[in-house]
Amino acid sequence: MKNQIPNFKTKLPEWGTSIFTVMSKMAADHNAINLAQGFPDFNCDDDLLELVQHYQKKGFNQYAPMPGVPVLRRAISEKIEKLYGKFYDPESEITVTSGATQALYTAITSVVKKGDEAIVFEPVYDSYVPDILSNGGKPVYIPLNPKDYTYDWEKVRNKISDNTKLIILNSPHNPTGSLLSNDDIEELEKITNGTEILIISDEVYEHIVFDGAKHISLSESEALAKRTFVISSFGKTYHTTGWKMGFCAAPEYLTSEFRKMHQFIVFSSNTPIQFAYADFMKNEEKYLSLSDFYQKKRDLFTSEIQNSNFVTKDCAGTYFQLLDYSEISDLPDMQFAEYMTKKVGVAVIPLSPFYEKRQSQPIIRVCFAKTDEVLKKSASIISKL
Ligand code: PMP
Ligand code: GLN
Repeated sequence: MKNQIPNFKTKLPEWGTSIFTVMSKMAADHNAINLAQGFPDFNCDDDLLELVQHYQKKGFNQYAPMPGVPVLRRAISEKIEKLYGKFYDPESEITVTSGATQALYTAITSVVKKGDEAIVFEPVYDSYVPDILSNGGKPVYIPLNPKDYTYDWEKVRNKISDNTKLIILNSPHNPTGSLLSNDDIEELEKITNGTEILIISDEVYEHIVFDGAKHISLSESEALAKRTFVISSFGKTYHTTGWKMGFCAAPEYLTSEFRKMHQFIVFSSNTPIQFAYADFMKNEEKYLSLSDFYQKKRDLFTSEIQNSNFVTKDCAGTYFQLLDYSEISDLPDMQFAEYMTKKVGVAVIPLSPFYEKRQSQPIIRVCFAKTDEVLKKSASIISKL
């Protein structure tokens, strides 16, 4: 008898490998400068490395408590209260996760059931929709205004139905760098008032906002905080994306569902790193200076390419810059990104994978979390186009 391969149906028929993986591999294969996937090309702080080693040597190498080590949960709670004025009980409202990616999946799988609708905004960060679909949910796409990537709340009102379970927001926004405003918060309060709608607020770039702007966390709104999972990532804040550590702050009734899932997805996250972050976070300067640090990089890169044929879009936060290449090429964005990587030697991210219909626009994303030397070198290369 022939040993047949079982015939099963994929849960994600429209999805292949993430664009970040595809472009990083292409960059490595073709020896291109990688301005594609978002990660710093410089090391994290030595003190942080020493703290991790310290806790490893001290023997903190076994399972952490399922919701995270208490000192870290307390440190997170204190930071949120100080910055945003909202107290989350570390015992029952804060959970440490293995990256924001896991926190997002865990929050979505905690609440989305078959047939539930979840509103997402296009361009949309790549993990939200697969998370919704793999739980039998239906993503409802709403475009951000194509000019400045702001929200059109009338469109949101029109898309809300009896099945709307969730709205997923991301500010500062990847890939566009736009920010939620106080008016947006007010609109969201009005729209959700009296409904059963829950919110996930992806705030992984909370400490990277520019030109004097202030990050607005959903935890600042009393009404919204009651229905929101606030998610952030240590990876972005401390230049440690490879450590995959994040957290979720949410009211107790949501955190208890979140933890039910969390315990069976990862159970707990890296122990010595949690202790190290708890100590390291005491130095506020490290995260309070991050916006200035990245603003200098944004400004360096944009000034170095100002005479090029790329047109820069506004970037109010994150470490990503959008570039319009319509004066350089008519190629669709996937092909242009491939050309940039293979022929020009600078890898970038096309924007179409952030859209439901994958429609091409002449826009690419670059990551400026790179050394000044690499920023200057890549700017000089792409300025020749
Ligand atoms: N959300 C957004 C908007 C991101 O850009 C990222 C970047 N990686 C994540 C979530 C995931 O964060 P982490 O690396 O902590 O999983
Ligand atoms: N968030 C990063 C980006 O937008 C990538 C993270 C990942 O590769 N999953 O580039």
